[in-house]
Amino acid sequence: MRVPGRFFLSGTLAETLEEGAVRQLANVATLPGIVKHSLAMPDIHWGYGFPIGGVAAFDMTEGVISPGGVGFDINCGVRLITTPLTEADLARRKRELIERLFDAVPTGVGAKSSLRVSNKDLSAVMVDGARWAVERGLGTEADLVRCEGEGAMPGADPDAVSAKARQRGVPQIGTLGAGNHFLEVQVAREIVDPEAAKAFGIAEGQVCFMVHCGSRGLGHQVATDHLRTLEGALPKYGIRLPDRQLACAPIDSPEGRAYYGGMVSAANYAWTNRQVIMHEARKVFVDLFGIDYDEMRLVYDVAHNVAKFERHDVDGVSTEVCVHRKGATRAFGPGAEGVPREYAGIGQPVIIPGSMGTSSYLLHGTSTAMEKTWGSTCHGAGRVLSRSKAKKEVRGKELRERLAGEGILVRAHSDNALAEEAPAVYKPSREVVRVVHEAGLSDIVARLEPLGVIKG
Ligand code: 5GP
Ligand code: MN
Ligand code: MN
Repeated sequence: MRVPGRFFLSGTLAETLEEGAVRQLANVATLPGIVKHSLAMPDIHWGYGFPIGGVAAFDMTEGVISPGGVGFDINCGVRLITTPLTEADLARRKRELIERLFDAVPTGVGAKSSLRVSNKDLSAVMVDGARWAVERGLGTEADLVRCEGEGAMPGADPDAVSAKARQRGVPQIGTLGAGNHFLEVQVAREIVDPEAAKAFGIAEGQVCFMVHCGSRGLGHQVATDHLRTLEGALPKYGIRLPDRQLACAPIDSPEGRAYYGGMVSAANYAWTNRQVIMHEARKVFVDLFGIDYDEMRLVYDVAHNVAKFERHDVDGVSTEVCVHRKGATRAFGPGAEGVPREYAGIGQPVIIPGSMGTSSYLLHGTSTAMEKTWGSTCHGAGRVLSRSKAKKEVRGKELRERLAGEGILVRAHSDNALAEEAPAVYKPSREVVRVVHEAGLSDIVARLEPLGVIKG
């Protein structure tokens, strides 16, 4: 190990810690040019190469960039939208709302978009991100300001996206995908930090809407393609790895630059995707409840699988580093560059989903995160039970009925798919969020409870 490994946990969560994930944290610490430490958030669990919940920064000249440090679902992320509705307004129409949302947003593995997108459009999507959708009337300028990076990263290289990746991407803009991805109607049950809640425009009892998805088949293909190239280039750069899944290349090498350009293209595609999904959902709420489009206000959109060039303090000197966040959320504090002006005094909103049966949280970034974790925090509760074990232990139909009894309507293509996403397969979100709050990596603003969930 070139640097120490460090994770943020509590006694309770330590029981969920997998040996394999700790080994991965150590493996990351062996990579060339890693700065200061290999980090993991309390949602740490085993992933491809890097642990999920992993954060690592690399020196721009000595360091590497690695797809394993980003994940296959490039720019998987979450956005949170508030509505002017209360639970009472939903009451008898909750079932109808969930059905209408399920119809409006294509879900499932091979879900196809209703948008007709040409190959040229796709190139524009990969460069412009969410702006591409807003320019076509699928959102407002105000939405863009409330996305991390205004819904796009600079440096896209559509030529680094293969024909196969494009083919997968063309029909999928505005689709949710399957598995862990979801749409969720929630209620803000508890406001913990009234000042921040006011700034973020969220109040107790308010109905909210959350979107979790990423770059679909396009991002997966970009990761797959570049992993192969990077593995092949390892001898050329004399990089020896404890695990081939850590395949990487110097940031400023032809292979490293190509991966970065492809990754940014996929990240921008993901922002477009979440923007289009939000637009479709807004139309459903407007239609059903007679509210205005603008009353569905985007609080923020965060990326939780991405590598970014950022300036951070390294031994007292502001230095550009390549921060990998793999199942980790940026948590920039008050006054940091990149935080929307309207939130500058508070820090950026941080959105942490829990599960279909437990609370999700809205937090804000802190200066402690800037000092300790490259401005990062956790991204969710984190999985504890594998998909195959979950299928053996949980019955989808029973789960759906139990949640319905608690007032949570779950809609999916099949009950079987639900088992893999049961609340019990995730760590308790309350405890994970308590850890990042106590460690000062992000502060709780509000707690949200699920009312209705759509799973891909
Ligand atoms: P990932 O991006 O790692 O697949 O998932 C992020 C987090 O989303 C998970 O760690 C889990 O805590 C949360 N999550 C998964 N399914 C749901 C759901 O249906 N509703 C909510 N609110 N959170 C979920
Ligand atoms: Mn994803
Ligand atoms: Mn995700």
